Amino acid sequence: MLSGNDIRQKFIEFFKEKEHKHYESASLIPDDPTLLLTVAGMVPFKPFFLGQKEAPTPRVTTHQKCIRTNDLENVGRTARHHTFFEMLGNFSFGDYFKEESIAWSWEFVTDVLGLDKDKMWISVFTTDDEAERIWNEKCGVPMERIVRLGEEDNWWSAGPVGSCGPCSEIHVDLGPEYGGDENSKLGDPGTDDRFIEIWNLVFTEWNRMEDGSLEPLPKKNIDTGAGLERVAAMVQKKANNFETDLLFPILEEAGRLTDTKYRASEKSDFSLKVITDHIRAITFLINDGVLPSNEGRGYVLRRIIRRAVRHGRLLGTKENFLNVLVDKVVEIMGGAYPEIRTNKEHIQKMVRIEEEKFSHTLDQGMNIVNEEIEKAIEAGEKKLSGEVTFKLYDTYGFPYELTEEICEEKGVEVTHAEFLEKMEEQKERARSAREVVKEKGQDTFIEEFFDKHGKTQFTGYTEHSTKAKI
Ligand code: ATP
Ligand code: MG
Ligand code: MG
Ligand code: MG
Repeated sequence: MLSGNDIRQKFIEFFKEKEHKHYESASLIPDDPTLLLTVAGMVPFKPFFLGQKEAPTPRVTTHQKCIRTNDLENVGRTARHHTFFEMLGNFSFGDYFKEESIAWSWEFVTDVLGLDKDKMWISVFTTDDEAERIWNEKCGVPMERIVRLGEEDNWWSAGPVGSCGPCSEIHVDLGPEYGGDENSKLGDPGTDDRFIEIWNLVFTEWNRMEDGSLEPLPKKNIDTGAGLERVAAMVQKKANNFETDLLFPILEEAGRLTDTKYRASEKSDFSLKVITDHIRAITFLINDGVLPSNEGRGYVLRRIIRRAVRHGRLLGTKENFLNVLVDKVVEIMGGAYPEIRTNKEHIQKMVRIEEEKFSHTLDQGMNIVNEEIEKAIEAGEKKLSGEVTFKLYDTYGFPYELTEEICEEKGVEVTHAEFLEKMEEQKERARSAREVVKEKGQDTFIEEFFDKHGKTQFTGYTEHSTKAKI
């Protein structure tokens, strides 16, 4: 059976044989001020897709490290979403188009990977007769298993105007035990966990004008992305990405470190999966130069570390285990990404520091959150006010999301808007304090004030809900 590492390599070889140039994965920190993190394989090539720069070579293939914070809540809840994952991709900049792109992806999944043709479902955009014809006539996919989907799933655009085009996706049907019944089709309600999207092909062929009309692009592009972990799950006949050889050894090690058996309970499995997912994101973020902080990428990292630590606590461990788990990630992925081997000690050190810091915060904060929850329940309220959630954050460094998660578990309500309101009020106070200080000329006070309350705008909460946009 093919390993995850084999699949990555076979993909690259397959497209190299088809005259693609192989580029190494770009950093998770994109060379693009509008984007926080690399969310897809096409990100490093965005200027070519938008026609801002001429591509140095017309055909490219990569395995790209990606992070999607918009999928954070899905981790461990679905079988197929991660924060960190690898996207396998082939790209054409004004070179080949739909015909080749579709035929090659089909050849790869059926011939090279040997996936069962009868379990494949294809989606095409509502009006894309051409893609439908190629799937049917050239690849032999029966019409019953080609489904037309609308803009939400099968249309790509960089923005309201500019390059855009239809998509087509390859899905694998896991069967009725994962949703629906014998007659269900791809796209039917309640079948999201059954039809697994493994590969997305984007055909960038239109230019959206200011008036909303579409004009054909002079140079048409291909941008495809297949999630390595999902493909591995399908090849290795696992209904869950976490059971593939890319992730399972990490999960087992997390189990060993926290003295938890896989499949002991749904709740502990959820925690194990979160930890397994997060440690990969943590390793690669630090490897690419991110450090825990209170804003931007640093906050994403901090939040992911803290979440993983908390799930360790839920499993009953008070030890600093995350830094140890980095070893396993390096063992599995150090071949494809040798730099994590070189940086391992630094990564472990940074994880340990943050783990220790947060363990302390947790001990303190947990008691207070629980007290506040009890107080609220006793008062017959079942709700924590913005004042309380903000105090927890501001005085005890307890992340809002954690308060929210704990409250959810206990059936106590919290409102994000109220929390943000308190945050705004504090900022306002900081501004007026600054004015006063300016008048009095007490510079050191400013330093101290900002040391305590942070001087940069805090963006973590808005990122949390923003969909990853390309
Ligand atoms: P989904 O609908 O399952 O959330 P998507 O349509 O958002 O996936 P794309 O943006 O099309 O995903 O990304 C291309 C491919 O990357 C997907 O077909 C899938 O194989 C993989 N992928 C996307 N998001 C994730 C994720 N969070 N974790 C793992 N793989 C992912
Ligand atoms: Mg998605
Ligand atoms: Mg999708
Ligand atoms: Mg998709």
